[in-house]
Amino acid sequence: MGRQNAHQMVDTVYAALHRSILDRRLRPGQKLREQALGELFSVSRTTVRAALQRLESEGLVTIEPNKGASVSLPSVNEVNDLFRVRLVVETGIAADLCGRQPAPLIKRLREHLDKEQRAMAAKDYKTMSKLQGEFHVLLAEATESRNLIEFLTGIISRTSLVISAFEDETHSACRSDEHKTLVDCIESGNTAGAITCMRKHLGDIEVAVTAKAQQIEDGYHPMQHLLGEL
Ligand SMILES: [Zn+2]
Repeated sequence: MGRQNAHQMVDTVYAALHRSILDRRLRPGQKLREQALGELFSVSRTTVRAALQRLESEGLVTIEPNKGASVSLPSVNEVNDLFRVRLVVETGIAADLCGRQPAPLIKRLREHLDKEQRAMAAKDYKTMSKLQGEFHVLLAEATESRNLIEFLTGIISRTSLVISAFEDETHSACRSDEHKTLVDCIESGNTAGAITCMRKHLGDIEVAVTAKAQQIEDGYHPMQHLLGEL
């Protein structure tokens, strides 16, 4: 791994695993063995462990005594809790943006909606689902609060772990027409409308994600997508 210092090596392993989890190449429940990862990245087990611990602190990896690390598999209870947090934070963000209506943001959001529409028209479900998640991060970015952006990005990544447990690329929890309504409300400074829309939007996503989490609790194996429909 070249002449990197210990700190950089941890960063490299962390970033590669983080990306693989969010890109669904490593799925919930997948074991992350220190020795194998150490060999793969040509680093020590201590380096791998430090990267895994950082992912654990973000809720993406679970480390259990005697069992080692694996990609986290959120329970139904955790999903409900994550959505409770999202509801509080994201209705707050929507209200904040309605009060400011920043023009550059409105432009960025409209461009983003166009991308969502194009992906939808092309039936590119993978891109669509990525863009729909990014829409929520974009709203957080518009607050220009680094803490809020980091916090919400982490929470959204954890909710998407549930979706990532399934090969179901067509599953799209967000509805683009609701994203458009939200942007319309922000542009016109309609705080009550934006809060109502965000509540409904997140409520619908929660129902969809909870149903997935329930299926996981009923029986799931991280390799099952390789087998297809049985
Ligand atoms: Zn959405």
